[in-house]
Amino acid sequence: MVEAACFTPRPVHDGRLISGIPLKRLPLPRSLRMKIHIDGQLLDKEDAKISVFDHGLLYGDGVFEGIRIYHGRIFRLTAHLKRLYESARSICMEIPISVEEMEKATLDTVAANNLQDGYIRLVITRGVGSLGLNPFQCPRPSVIIIASTISLYPAERYEKGLNLITCATRRPTPAALSPQVKSLNYLNNVMAKIEAIQAGCEEGIMLNEQGYVAECTGDNVFVAKNGKVYTPPISAGGLDGITRQAVIEILGQLGFSCEEKMMTRHDLFTADECFLTGTAAEVIPAVQLDRRLIGDGKPGPITAQVVAAFRELVKHDGTPVTYV
Ligand code: PMP
Repeated sequence: MVEAACFTPRPVHDGRLISGIPLKRLPLPRSLRMKIHIDGQLLDKEDAKISVFDHGLLYGDGVFEGIRIYHGRIFRLTAHLKRLYESARSICMEIPISVEEMEKATLDTVAANNLQDGYIRLVITRGVGSLGLNPFQCPRPSVIIIASTISLYPAERYEKGLNLITCATRRPTPAALSPQVKSLNYLNNVMAKIEAIQAGCEEGIMLNEQGYVAECTGDNVFVAKNGKVYTPPISAGGLDGITRQAVIEILGQLGFSCEEKMMTRHDLFTADECFLTGTAAEVIPAVQLDRRLIGDGKPGPITAQVVAAFRELVKHDGTPVTYV
């Protein structure tokens, strides 16, 4: 039985399948192994490790970005790097390399993994320190760059739309922590995601303290009503999403008005269409909220136009990777 289990197809490396061949006897050639950047070095995945005394692990003290690669181009890399450095500045963390060096390291990591399409995770941890909270005792932040793939929702949801619930967990007030800091502490979002999944949904709406719609656990939200499109202002408590910005531009080009408006659940229940945007999520329709159908419960025509235009945009809008 143990032998048989060895022969079941299983995913290796970046999801490719090797069928019927025991993995132990088939180590990937060095050139095909996933390479991870840590502090200037490209390491094999197995060797890419950081200290248990890193405050990124001990306190969630650090910042990150998630970035997509489409057709050999890194989508809106400059905007992601700007947000990364702003997050770091906000938490008094000096990233030890310049923006230009970070851009080069990111491009090199993607090239080293030979990824034409995928997802990059930039992580800057506070670095190694003592067990106390004091970040100023951590002499040097660590830079980690992972170039891999991501799939947030099942493929059929992009056709049929997501079912959402409203999460009881609220987005925190900016007085506690600005939602603009993409920090390594995502517990607020994780708690909300747990609620959505336990309710049988893939995603959930998060409200702010006042009960206005802020965003989803990892995406921004848009609705369409009577031919116009609305999204909550950033001041409602959501992240200033880079995909959100791209979609606002797309809507303008398609001739739709897009207005930032404080919204309640009622506005979502009574919308004609709803869709979510995010780097990992891309643009995805949402067709139910708290068991109420949004519109006719099917992805709508404005959403379809935005999805199509976004797919076109990512073909050419991006920093090209030079593959070796
Ligand atoms: N909100 C949250 C909480 C997120 O984590 C993300 C993903 N970064 C987004 C919105 C979407 O932002 P972006 O389009 O920049 O990925």
